[in-house]
Amino acid sequence: MKVTEYFDKAKGETLVSFEVLPPLKGGSMKTIFDMLDPLMEFKPPFIDVTYHREEYVYNRQDTGFYEKVAIRKRPGTVGICAAIMHRYGVDAVPHLICGGFTREETENALIDLNFLNIKNVLALRGDARRFEDKFVPEKDGHIYALDLVGQVSDMNKGKYLDKGIENGAHTDFCIGIAGYPEKHFESPNFELDLEYTKEKINAGASYIVTQMFFDNKKYFEYVDKCKAAGINVPIVPGLKPITRKYQLNSIPRKFFINFPEELVKEVQKVKKSEFVKEIGIEWSIQQCKELKQRGVPCLHFYTMGDWETSKKIIKAVM
Ligand code: FAD
Repeated sequence: MKVTEYFDKAKGETLVSFEVLPPLKGGSMKTIFDMLDPLMEFKPPFIDVTYHREEYVYNRQDTGFYEKVAIRKRPGTVGICAAIMHRYGVDAVPHLICGGFTREETENALIDLNFLNIKNVLALRGDARRFEDKFVPEKDGHIYALDLVGQVSDMNKGKYLDKGIENGAHTDFCIGIAGYPEKHFESPNFELDLEYTKEKINAGASYIVTQMFFDNKKYFEYVDKCKAAGINVPIVPGLKPITRKYQLNSIPRKFFINFPEELVKEVQKVKKSEFVKEIGIEWSIQQCKELKQRGVPCLHFYTMGDWETSKKIIKAVM
């Protein structure tokens, strides 16, 4: 079923969903199942699986020179989606990115997903590769998520790249996109970022999943601004509790978000790591309680390999 259909069916009740990362190459599907098994009691209607393009690494050679090699450290998104659907009978939402894909490869990937009866995709641009200072698309690949949304929408209308295809099968993907309550880091300002978000909706996207945030005010303001701009799709809050002290710096560096002063002060006070986790869980519980009370469609947890933390939070909220 489509993600938006689950929201319609829930009739205002808040659902719970999860995002998982493929294991590092060489890992096994068991790590994903071990993570998801304990979370299935919350009956997530869908589970997102991230996509990771290749990264450059520099290997030191015997000569002392370094060899630049491109490797994909976390392959397997589509296989994991299929395995999740098979084991749990829930919908899997693969993340589809522009980076590393030509349009042709995107088309072929969408055909695979359609044949697997996958009904949803989260369409994203992806980030720049490590050691690149800006996002570089493939030759003939998409530059912005907007173009990717357009390609998926075209296939939903039976339009393929090969103009010779007449009466091509219509796919029926529900398209999600990313949204940034605290602005995408490359955008010159919030308003322009929102304009591009609206373009993605106009191009066929039907829901938004937000970047993580730790201050609900930012999310509610974002929803209001989206509405004022004519964006009327469900906006799913993305949630990640802080569990380690170093995340006070690493999370803003990686995800370009701010921590509220009160949370920073509380975390800075404590000496032992386990207490940081307790603070992070309690903060997230309060966030989730308010979001649920205000009727958000879904609480979407970025599990990042830690099911226990998500479980504690959901148990306290749902
Ligand atoms: P876009 O919508 O293309 O926006 C990128 C930048 O370009 C923004 O600054 C925007 O304002 C600007 N822009 C957009 N359209 C235009 C236009 N037409 N003209 C000019 N400027 C424009 N990354 C992964 O690699 N794999 C994942 O699985 C993954 N999952 C994610 C899930 C969520 C919920 C979120 C929030 C992010 C995820 N990301 C993932 C990270 C994401 O790929 C990055 O944040 C990326 O930098 C931007 O992606 P986007 O889809 O928002 O890009």
